[in-house]
Amino acid sequence: MTLDEAIEGRRDELIALTQDLVRMPTLNPPGRGYLEICEYLRDRLAPSGFAVEMVRAEGAPGDSDKYPRWNVVARREGVRPGECVHFNSHIDVVEVGQGWTVDPFGGEVRDGKLYGRGACDMKGGLAASIIAAEAFLEVHPDFAGAIEISGTADEESGGYGGVAYLAEKGFFDPARVQHVIIPEPLNKDRICLGHRGVWWAEVETKGRIAHGSMPFLGDCAVRHMGAVIAEMEESLFPALAEKRTEMPVVPEGARQSTLNINSIHGGEPEQEEDYTGLPAPCVPDRARMVIDRRFLIEEDLAAVKDEFRAVLERVAARRETFAYELRDLFEVLPTMTERDAPVVEAVAEAIRSTLGTEADYVVSPGTYDQKHIDRIGKLHNCIAYGPGILDLAHQPDEYVGIDDMVDSAKVMGRALERLLGVEAG
Ligand SMILES: [Zn+2]
Repeated sequence: MTLDEAIEGRRDELIALTQDLVRMPTLNPPGRGYLEICEYLRDRLAPSGFAVEMVRAEGAPGDSDKYPRWNVVARREGVRPGECVHFNSHIDVVEVGQGWTVDPFGGEVRDGKLYGRGACDMKGGLAASIIAAEAFLEVHPDFAGAIEISGTADEESGGYGGVAYLAEKGFFDPARVQHVIIPEPLNKDRICLGHRGVWWAEVETKGRIAHGSMPFLGDCAVRHMGAVIAEMEESLFPALAEKRTEMPVVPEGARQSTLNINSIHGGEPEQEEDYTGLPAPCVPDRARMVIDRRFLIEEDLAAVKDEFRAVLERVAARRETFAYELRDLFEVLPTMTERDAPVVEAVAEAIRSTLGTEADYVVSPGTYDQKHIDRIGKLHNCIAYGPGILDLAHQPDEYVGIDDMVDSAKVMGRALERLLGVEAG
């Protein structure tokens, strides 16, 4: 039997497995049902000879006795030592939101599509990788090396209770794992090489409180913040739009530096919703803004920060009483795996031979768990590859195409053959 035939023969099983996974509402936040889904994956993989470890990320952000951060790591050894290929999928899904016409946790199948929250992002990819591995084990029982499959928590909230924790514990040590495929929904003919960088910061402008009827006796922090935004419009946003990257980011609009103002707040705190009185007349003595700056592999994080500080300094030069604080909140460096890395070449070849098309190389505008494998694990031979259309992620009526899952399982299986050095079956 060939690997393709073994995977085709598992089509119904692939559907049933994806349905089972979708029917577990592993919502994050707060991080529901991690133990249940990890136990399910353990019970699924152990009969195929996987040694399974359950790892709770104790003390990680979000971990509590009510919502423990469970992860599962399964490893199947071949008959001889060799390289290890690891498939990593996050098991959490984001909130359901409004606008669904099907049961978000029903796993309904209609017109070749399987519906549900997480069907696309990324339980369909997880199921495809399991089916690929099981078919590979049937066709190549005497392979050398190892296959690992992990289901990890909290990707949607930063991955600190998931891949980051496992990487700190050595699960992504290049001595243990050599190739990583993350079956995120990038589409079956695309290889995602990495992502842009992130810098979140909070800027605060200072003022002095006074009675609102005599604002000249105070100093308005909101007007100072207004001047900051005006300066950003004047000099920063045009400069960011000029910075273009060689990274093949999709969508195209993200092939430049971007900055989002996540939130802004100034003046007295907002009252409780049931407060029926009027606000008090005060000059705001404090305004805060959270910025989300996404930067390119060609940019240096220190320069990104300096560029923003220069905006504030230009405002300071014009406004006598201007005072500010700038606080770092979060940062991730950009990452991009080389096109000639072994896992990239193996998946590109598998796409070519399975789908008869050349792989499209892309980079994600936002980050995903590759950052932890790269930065903490020091494992650079890592990509995202999996079925599903990224635009559907986090949307109502999210679905994954069943043919796409089967095709990408075949690609994953062929990549296994190439990376583990077995004759194609
Ligand atoms: Zn995802």
